[in-house]
Amino acid sequence: MAIKRREFLKTAGSAIAGAAVGSAVSFGIAEAKKRTVGSTFEGYHVNTNGPARMKLSFEPYELQLRHTFTVASYSRTTTPDVQVRIEYDGFTGYGEASMPPYLGQSVESVTAFLRKVDLEQFRDPFRIDDILTYVDGLSEGDSAAKAAVDIALHDLVGKLMGQPWYRIWGLDPGKAPDTTFTIGIDTPDVVREKTRECADRFNILKVKVGLDNDKEMIETIREITNLPIAVDANQGWKDKDKALEMIHWLAEHGVVMVEQPMPKEMLDENAWITENSPLPVFADEAIQRLRDIPSIKGAYSGINIKLMKCTGMREAWKMVSYARTEGMKVMIGCMTETSCGVSAAAQLSPVVDFADLDGNLLISNDLFEGMTVVNGRITLPDRPGIGLKPLGKLEI
Ligand SMILES: [Mg+2]
Repeated sequence: MAIKRREFLKTAGSAIAGAAVGSAVSFGIAEAKKRTVGSTFEGYHVNTNGPARMKLSFEPYELQLRHTFTVASYSRTTTPDVQVRIEYDGFTGYGEASMPPYLGQSVESVTAFLRKVDLEQFRDPFRIDDILTYVDGLSEGDSAAKAAVDIALHDLVGKLMGQPWYRIWGLDPGKAPDTTFTIGIDTPDVVREKTRECADRFNILKVKVGLDNDKEMIETIREITNLPIAVDANQGWKDKDKALEMIHWLAEHGVVMVEQPMPKEMLDENAWITENSPLPVFADEAIQRLRDIPSIKGAYSGINIKLMKCTGMREAWKMVSYARTEGMKVMIGCMTETSCGVSAAAQLSPVVDFADLDGNLLISNDLFEGMTVVNGRITLPDRPGIGLKPLGKLEI
């Protein structure tokens, strides 16, 4: 006989509460329970009746790069960044917007966007879908600013639940992959020095190519190490025949994948390369958000998802599902970011084919301890939300 609906809901509610309490100890949720007001599920901190409101605050923060960073289109020593917080009933969620020049966003555009965001109208931070749909609807672009709000909200909700996001998503942290470590385009002496610095700490390298010294870059690295290499041409190759010839040469020199070989506008040429390439070819500049995936279908083997491009964790998760449905590979990447953005992206890493999460290692003024790299592998922190421990330098 069918269980009456009311009874079923009651049973389901207890099961959820039981699951939360069972894992409460390691994440300090017992403490959260004591503070619960108007709780729906015992064990979760859900304040639906009390006076608490979400409060958003933000502060520009310039990231200092350890080395001058050169890719096919530019060089730089700093990256503009905005740190974000959402406070709610004694809990704090951290978020971040990082704005490398090519994204077309700036401290000014991000702070102007964040000033428009009114989270105080929402009573319940668990309404992630409503809140982020509202935030996304405030403008057409502003992907990094939207990602900052998304990350802070996910961090907050994970903390209210007392669980890390990889666990909420049902992922095994033991399946987190190796991360690549990026070597920018430079002189052989600098490339040699950077390779020596990282060869013992990583299991796969990412090398920027796309200028006229591609073979020299790879040969210089091969003087030091035989580690597998991912290459990123950053749209730098302009001739499809030469690009394919180069990819064959790279495959013979231990390269395992190619990112954005040609300009994103040259869709047919990129598709031809993908069809004939011995290596998987990933779209990066050619794809920003979920809605872009249909337009590149068939032209690349996979997509590079970055939170700053796709508006954050919520959309990134949808992109993984959609790409898998289309039989595409997935990589997760980042900008130069503090451990905040990188640790948010790392929550998804157990389901990707490649991870390029070294943005926090490229800066000298990180603000958090979060995801770490142990023997070259991504190691997810056993802390709720996105797993951050502030280093005490942040004042917003
Ligand atoms: Mg790239």
